[in-house]
Amino acid sequence: MLKLLFKSVTVFALFVGGAVCAAESPKVVIWKFDDVRAGEKARLLPGFKKVSDWAVKNKTVISMGVICDSLANPNADDVAWIKKNAIENGGCVEFWLHGWDHKKIKKADGSDGSEFNGSDLVTQQKHFKDACDIFTKNTQLTFNTFGAPYNQSDENTAVAMDVCPNLTNWFFGPKDKKRIVLGRTINMEVATGKVSYEKFAEAYKAKTPTSPLVLQGHVGQWDDQSYKDFVKIADFLSKEGWTAKTPRQWAESLKK
Ligand SMILES: [Zn+2]
Repeated sequence: MLKLLFKSVTVFALFVGGAVCAAESPKVVIWKFDDVRAGEKARLLPGFKKVSDWAVKNKTVISMGVICDSLANPNADDVAWIKKNAIENGGCVEFWLHGWDHKKIKKADGSDGSEFNGSDLVTQQKHFKDACDIFTKNTQLTFNTFGAPYNQSDENTAVAMDVCPNLTNWFFGPKDKKRIVLGRTINMEVATGKVSYEKFAEAYKAKTPTSPLVLQGHVGQWDDQSYKDFVKIADFLSKEGWTAKTPRQWAESLKK
């Protein structure tokens, strides 16, 4: 009798466990911090160190986009910082490719374009290859994620990206057969480099975003108020049950 009772309790517990699992939809936030430079001319800005210290303290993960031409003349301390903080080396940051030079261009028709918006295929291929190569040469790490400068791309970009087959994730890209695209929902910056908790909370309330929630920030430009608002947003999301992943961790979780 006791044995039977035990068995039925176990079955019940398993059933409840299964039901909880099935009903659970993980809420994942991905922090997308743009514009890391690590060169002698354009050094790593203090905001990146501040936010990575925050991530370590909070036992969470973040991601940072590197503008790679800065590594043509690298600063040894900044490169050492990237290596130390890379998730592959036990840190909390996934570094991703944020272009070679991040420059604006004039398109053939005279309108405004940017590095991956209006450049010909060969130029875009060269920028991808040079960026991937120089990053790996300096850090011994490999990019798996791409996010275009100004989040602008064109019909050449997906084809050009084939020169770096390890780039399997794309921030704010168009639909792509080969890569996992991480979309954009609500924002935490109201202007480049300016975070607003109030505006974020309004947008969140109006439309609870679907997972993954990618939040872009230009931490190098944040003042104290923007930083405080970011921490407030992160605390709010944590209370709402969101946990952070890097783009690569997110992509890997889809395969399971
Ligand atoms: Zn940028």
